[in-house]
Amino acid sequence: MSQTEIHAEGAFLVPGPLAPPTRLLMGPGPTMVEQRVYEAMATPIVSHVDAYFFEVAEDIRKMLQLAFATQNNFTMAISGTGSAGMEAAVANVTEPGMRFAVFANGYFSDRMTEMAQRQGAEVIRFEKPWGEVFSDEEADAFVRRERPHVVGYVQAETSTGAYQQGRAIAKAARDVDALVIADCVTSLAGMPVLVDETGIDVAYSGTQKALSCPPGLSPLTLNERALDRVRARKAPLATWYLDLRLLDSYYGDAKRYHHTAPIPLFYALREALRIVMEEGLDARWRRHWENHMAFVEAASALGMKMHVEPGHQLWTLHTPLLPEGVNDVALRKFLLENAGIEVLGGFGPLQGKVLRIGLMGASSTRTHIETLLTNLQQGLAAQGHSGSGDPIEAARAVWASPPPIPHV
Ligand SMILES: *Cc1c(COP(=O)(O)O)cnc(C)c1O
Repeated sequence: MSQTEIHAEGAFLVPGPLAPPTRLLMGPGPTMVEQRVYEAMATPIVSHVDAYFFEVAEDIRKMLQLAFATQNNFTMAISGTGSAGMEAAVANVTEPGMRFAVFANGYFSDRMTEMAQRQGAEVIRFEKPWGEVFSDEEADAFVRRERPHVVGYVQAETSTGAYQQGRAIAKAARDVDALVIADCVTSLAGMPVLVDETGIDVAYSGTQKALSCPPGLSPLTLNERALDRVRARKAPLATWYLDLRLLDSYYGDAKRYHHTAPIPLFYALREALRIVMEEGLDARWRRHWENHMAFVEAASALGMKMHVEPGHQLWTLHTPLLPEGVNDVALRKFLLENAGIEVLGGFGPLQGKVLRIGLMGASSTRTHIETLLTNLQQGLAAQGHSGSGDPIEAARAVWASPPPIPHV
């Protein structure tokens, strides 16, 4: 904290000016924010019903359509973090007594379960150990057997590092007339989120992961099937703030006041999306893919295997297994104190077993990765663990001739 404390009334000391420490954010989010985005946030605010604000919201809508690879007109940023998008998605399409099927293989599918239960749904869970994924055949059989009204899955499970393919889920869901909700918080703008092609009806994300924007908004998109369900609701929606019909009368043609949108966050998201568009989605996915592969090879040189099987690993969030005898709390303390690097550990069933390393957006650069690897190697050595090779050399070998990007 700053030294300059001002003596105010009575015994109260007014805190000095902010002086946040410089961190290299390489955990599960928030991620590094580019200077341009900070500068956008510091431009003058206008009101939440100013024509300029609606232009900003419209720019965001168009760029989010591209990022989500969707034609959905109903695409917007919800005021609130990723969990607000999750709750908006779940609440608006779920009515009490509905059957809500969840593919449960991590922390965020548990959160979705809880939200669906709070909407009065009958939740049916297909459970797998954290880090495993559901095959097309399993997904298909589950949905056809249970015949739910809504199906939820997490495309990019940040608690485990696993990627869940959604095509088979969406196809079976359509056949039994169920809607599909996909959590794309840790995938959007880091790896392909092909909403329309996959057949996802409702997708949401967050700003502080691969979009590299401060937390506070949640991109959300719904197709016509989902909107028909929202319009046909019989039960009144218990949430006022996240009622999509009300939000549509704000951001849609009516432009009717609903809440005071957090204007600086809209500026930030607009700038972050401009950065995504300038890089190009394909190039951005390729960068995340190549850095992911480089990290996997480097981790192997450090003696760390990955918790998730190849082919199912996220390109954005990595869960290397800690070598035998290495304490994750001490290792993370070393990284933070020696280099200001933030990575997180595992929790739940993965407590003490893995690290959670985010290589997302502005955090996923070769320079940052080399800094991380150097410090990881030193931190492991401090606990008496030396790997079998040079992690930087291993990463550079991948960058020199990266494997082709797979079709996901
Ligand atoms: C981070 C995250 C969320 C929740 O986002 P908050 O911004 O923390 O509310 C939801 N789902 C997944 C997969 C996440 O990684």
